[in-house]
Amino acid sequence: MRVGIKALVLERWHELRATGAALSLFPNAWRALDALGVSHKLTSIYAPAERGYFTNLSSGAIQEVSYTGINGNNGGPITVHRKALLEALAEDLPTNSIRFSCKITAIETEAYEGSSLAVVHLEDGTVIKTKALIGCDGVHSKVASWLGLATPVESGRSGVRGLAVFPQGHGLKKQEAHQFVGAGRRAGFIPLTDKEAYWGLACASQANKGAYLRDPIEIQREVLENYAKDMPELYQDIVKHSNLSTLTWAPLMFRQPWKVAFGTLSKQNVTVAGDAMHPMTPDLGQGGCLALEDAVVLGRHIGRCVRQNGGLAPREITNALADYAEERRWRAAWLITGSFLSGWVQHGGSTWGLRFFRDAIFYKFLFRRILGVVDYDCGKLA
Ligand SMILES: Cc1cc2nc3c(=O)[nH]c(=O)nc-3n(C[C@H](O)[C@H](O)[C@H](O)COP(=O)(O)OP(=O)(O)OC[C@H]3O[C@@H](n4cnc5c(N)ncnc54)[C@H](O)[C@@H]3O)c2cc1C
Repeated sequence: MRVGIKALVLERWHELRATGAALSLFPNAWRALDALGVSHKLTSIYAPAERGYFTNLSSGAIQEVSYTGINGNNGGPITVHRKALLEALAEDLPTNSIRFSCKITAIETEAYEGSSLAVVHLEDGTVIKTKALIGCDGVHSKVASWLGLATPVESGRSGVRGLAVFPQGHGLKKQEAHQFVGAGRRAGFIPLTDKEAYWGLACASQANKGAYLRDPIEIQREVLENYAKDMPELYQDIVKHSNLSTLTWAPLMFRQPWKVAFGTLSKQNVTVAGDAMHPMTPDLGQGGCLALEDAVVLGRHIGRCVRQNGGLAPREITNALADYAEERRWRAAWLITGSFLSGWVQHGGSTWGLRFFRDAIFYKFLFRRILGVVDYDCGKLA
């Protein structure tokens, strides 16, 4: 849009969709938001985490990790409401750039000026033709399957998320994140504002529970009665204060990293970004951060193409999208791998060797290094 191209966002939901309540954004995401010109809208409201407390549920040992000073930063991740992030991004778009209740059902291409146009079919029968199609349609992406990318697989774990609301204030320190790790479970919470805290739980998936765990009351009961019963009262209290409309329970999915490293990430004038390209387990909190990086890198390639050709030349845009995909391919594949390994270490069970690795090596030495990997600069927009 900054280089004068008209863009249209098609969203199947009837409004900005904020499933998941909140998300933690690391320095790489803040650099991307800087490049997009929206970071100031969020940093004025949300504060960076300064400390993390990791409790081993078996031994009761608590490990404190300071985020201050990591890679020269003033703090760790900043956790924001998803809605606030989406609104900050959407506000900068020209009016009518987002069309809601538009579900893409099929995609095809047709020949155009020696290249191709993407033809998008919507559920209501509308057909839209475009010189460039960017699929940002999440883990079950229609665009990714049109490209022939491998279907994401289940990790064997599920993620539960919710937003707790304390009308009188929760009295917690806003800059402190808490995690509780036990065999096959990892839970945590972080205050968002003086009255709200975001909480989550990752646990082994149980095949027979899929159906009723769509009901928020059942989700809350299942967490309290089974997964959190030996956790500190504070965590249980936070779960009890959940706004039920924010509770979700979903399998954690990822695309196998080699399928991203060697898969078709762009074809003709079609490519993918965000979870549509690189769904990953949330163990490094990087899926959304990487999606923001994608936006900047993609914008830079398209912008360069438009400036050099005086508009969206169909043949050149194909090359621009291919260059973008190549730039993202390995970073995405490595982060999927890192997230999966991180989850495996932290959830892996209670064997002596794994416990020793987790408590004596992972949190003491590796965790800060992993945080370093997310200190990435995707660059600026021209
Ligand atoms: C438990 C959990 C915790 C997480 N925590 C973090 C975190 O702390 N930090 C972080 O960075 N990431 C985190 N993530 C990952 C993050 O949620 C995703 O990576 C991020 O939401 C991806 O954004 P996206 O826009 O690519 O996809 P989505 O957020 O899934 O958005 C896709 C959009 O496309 C729309 N859509 C889908 N299909 C169609 C269609 N056919 N037609 C039209 N519209 C369609 C959907 O309605 C949706 O609005 C977490 C994930 C999980 C599961």
